[in-house]
Amino acid sequence: MRGMVHQAGPESNFCDAGPPRVHSPPMKRVIAVANQKGGVGKTTTAVNLAASLAATKRRVMLLDLDPQGNATMGSGVDKSQLQSSSVDVLLGDVEIGAALVRVDPGGFDLLPANQDLTAAEVRLLTMMAGRETKLRNAVAPLRESYDVILIDCPPALNMLTVNSLVAADSVLIPMQCEYYALEGLSALVGTIEQIRSAANESLEIEGILRTMFDPRNNLANEVSAQLIMHFGDKVFRTIIPRNIRLAEAPSFGKPVLFHDRESRGALAYLALAGEMIRREEEEQQQTATQAAAAGDEDAEVADESGNAEVVPNSL
Ligand code: ADP
Ligand code: MG
Repeated sequence: MRGMVHQAGPESNFCDAGPPRVHSPPMKRVIAVANQKGGVGKTTTAVNLAASLAATKRRVMLLDLDPQGNATMGSGVDKSQLQSSSVDVLLGDVEIGAALVRVDPGGFDLLPANQDLTAAEVRLLTMMAGRETKLRNAVAPLRESYDVILIDCPPALNMLTVNSLVAADSVLIPMQCEYYALEGLSALVGTIEQIRSAANESLEIEGILRTMFDPRNNLANEVSAQLIMHFGDKVFRTIIPRNIRLAEAPSFGKPVLFHDRESRGALAYLALAGEMIRREEEEQQQTATQAAAAGDEDAEVADESGNAEVVPNSL
């Protein structure tokens, strides 16, 4: 229901956030959903992953960085009625908190977009300095107020996508297992590497997501096997099937979870959220184990040199 949306400032985010969490925030905080090819499931992934992560009580922000405003409409927000949007935030005219809209049903905050964003892209192109870091700077004040910030990128490797990749900790790449998919992927990986060496050295690939998958299609299975051969663990185990509920949910202005929560599409995006959270927890555990092991070595070195106490692991 489009009418249920209201403008939300940072205060309402804090109210909605509930009690503070005891665990450290799961997963990379800012995740760009990117692929320069159109129609591969970026927007579907951004909206439904946002709702699925919000359903696990994470505080989620979704940034619509596509002038088509599909994530905005798919979240039930009328893109022709925006008071302020990502163009104003990107150009520094409005604080991000003042442009956010609460998505209900959905449980996340949205920075909406419409075709005005095309003009912002042109303005960015003509700027001499700092044009790649506009989004990163704009998001900075609210970065710590969210567990996850997802960015829905446009279907191009343009300044909007560059801004998203510079603002992001990691990139989630939805792709359809089709004939030319791997070629497109290497162009994107090239861009990610360029961004890494130029502006954001810690940018990682969060994962590659197989979307609209039809297991009866031999080519899809072949491309999927090649993908795993090239990218190994970077390929999410969760596969998003082709599912009519996912395609029709945007016309109701709702994430699929609130359109048909039992559908295979809804379950697949919940599974993706679960896989991302599990992965992050495993990584955190590994880091903790490595730190403990390093601590052991230090203690042993100190012991051998005979001039220090052995520090117990637990400290
Ligand atoms: P992108 O943002 O990459 O351009 P979209 O998410 O808009 O791609 O998806 C393109 C089209 O395919 C949309 O009409 C969308 O509803 C549909 N679609 C996306 N994912 C699925 C899916 N898993 N099953 C069925 N239709 C899908
Ligand atoms: Mg899209």
